[in-house]
Amino acid sequence: MRLSRYFLPVLKETPADAQIASHRLMLRAGMIRQQSAGIYSWLPLGYRVLRRIEQIVHEEQQRAGHIPLLMPTLQSADLWRESGRYDDYGEEMLRITDRHGRDMLYGPTNEEMITDIFRAHVTSYKDLPLTLYHIQWKFRDEIRPRFGVMRGREFLMKDGYNFDLTKEDALHAYNRHLVSYLRTYERMGLQAIPMRADSGPIGGDDTHEFLVLAETGESEVFYDSKVTDIRLGEREIDYDSHAECRAVMEEFTSLYARTDETHDEAVFNEIPEERRRSARGIEVGQIFYFGTKYSEPMGATVVTQSGERVPVHMGSHGIGVSRLLGALIEANHDENGIIWPEGVTPFHCGIVNLKQGDAEADAACEDLYKALKARGLEPLYDDREERAGAKFATMDLIGLPWRITVGPRGLKNGVVELTSRRTGESEELAPETAVARVA
Ligand code: ATP
Ligand code: MG
Ligand code: MG
Ligand code: MG
Repeated sequence: MRLSRYFLPVLKETPADAQIASHRLMLRAGMIRQQSAGIYSWLPLGYRVLRRIEQIVHEEQQRAGHIPLLMPTLQSADLWRESGRYDDYGEEMLRITDRHGRDMLYGPTNEEMITDIFRAHVTSYKDLPLTLYHIQWKFRDEIRPRFGVMRGREFLMKDGYNFDLTKEDALHAYNRHLVSYLRTYERMGLQAIPMRADSGPIGGDDTHEFLVLAETGESEVFYDSKVTDIRLGEREIDYDSHAECRAVMEEFTSLYARTDETHDEAVFNEIPEERRRSARGIEVGQIFYFGTKYSEPMGATVVTQSGERVPVHMGSHGIGVSRLLGALIEANHDENGIIWPEGVTPFHCGIVNLKQGDAEADAACEDLYKALKARGLEPLYDDREERAGAKFATMDLIGLPWRITVGPRGLKNGVVELTSRRTGESEELAPETAVARVA
């Protein structure tokens, strides 16, 4: 992409009403625009990152054997009357009446709808296990939308639902989700710690939230510092193996790590004092097992091998796709701007032409641009007639992992400058070497 033809409306001034770094930086970098309280347009740069995050979530869900579909944002109130949640959900639910006077709502979550799909089409134990998921906009009329996309009213969520014959199978689905979530966050360069949590209005017995430690997080958390040393890393997990998934779940959840709702001072105090931590965290996902809470009242049953009709065991599992942008920036920025992890960066590399209009510099930039694209990378070429300082400031603000700076002086010696956004270190290299380094 050439910056002269792109739409990157960066702001010079720091927006006064944005209280935390990620919100300020998303506005300054021209990633989002607020349209109403807690409702945002995704401008091209923000949209690129959102799509990359979505892509990683899709890949990891499908690697775990989960099947994508797409349910609508608007739902009929009748489904929610069946589960009893139409009255229970309260003011967070946006209720709408259509022209025929039918009660509708903008979905805050989809347990009822997916259960309806299941009961309409699945009748036999032979069709289990089954996990369906989608990535779709949700609406919750949050009393205090704030921190930009971190707590929006309209937000993008991946929500997945497992249907199993037995509790044991459903707990395997739970563990499988836990593993796939760990892999998802790690691919984004993010550490999200599973913590024992409270189930809230979804209901259920077993639940973990995934928290990214950050001072600006809205959750209060307590944990054993050893939990922050564990990584999933590159290990291959067989998602069909109950034992393998359970082992990962146990490894990641046996150390103390809880949100304030389930925090137990007595148990916490058994941890050696130097390892006890209390901190704040951002909830970027949650997994639930809730048994037959929806399948029973809504009649989602299957016929077993022995001919008996039984309600299925279910769970639901969510990732805050749009909130992740905020969490990623909270975890990756400095005073000059964002520092994207390679896994989610909107462009792989920036090219800064120090002397636009200089035939040699222009030609060298074009060559770099083509060479990067030929390797399947997406460069952002700042080809504007601007001062070098302004170009550097824009690149630092939008936080691409690499910047290649091209100027007549370096070209005389056959070199360009490659700079890492994270370390700030620069190296003079032949253009081909710089391209190879980025790739
Ligand atoms: P919170 O405690 O922050 O209100 P929640 O527990 O109500 O979140 P869930 O029902 O668990 O949310 O939804 C799954 C995920 O969706 C959450 O883990 C979070 O990452 C994301 N999410 C929930 N509410 C919002 C929101 N208002 N804006 C952006 N993301 C959200
Ligand atoms: Mg909530
Ligand atoms: Mg929560
Ligand atoms: Mg939650």
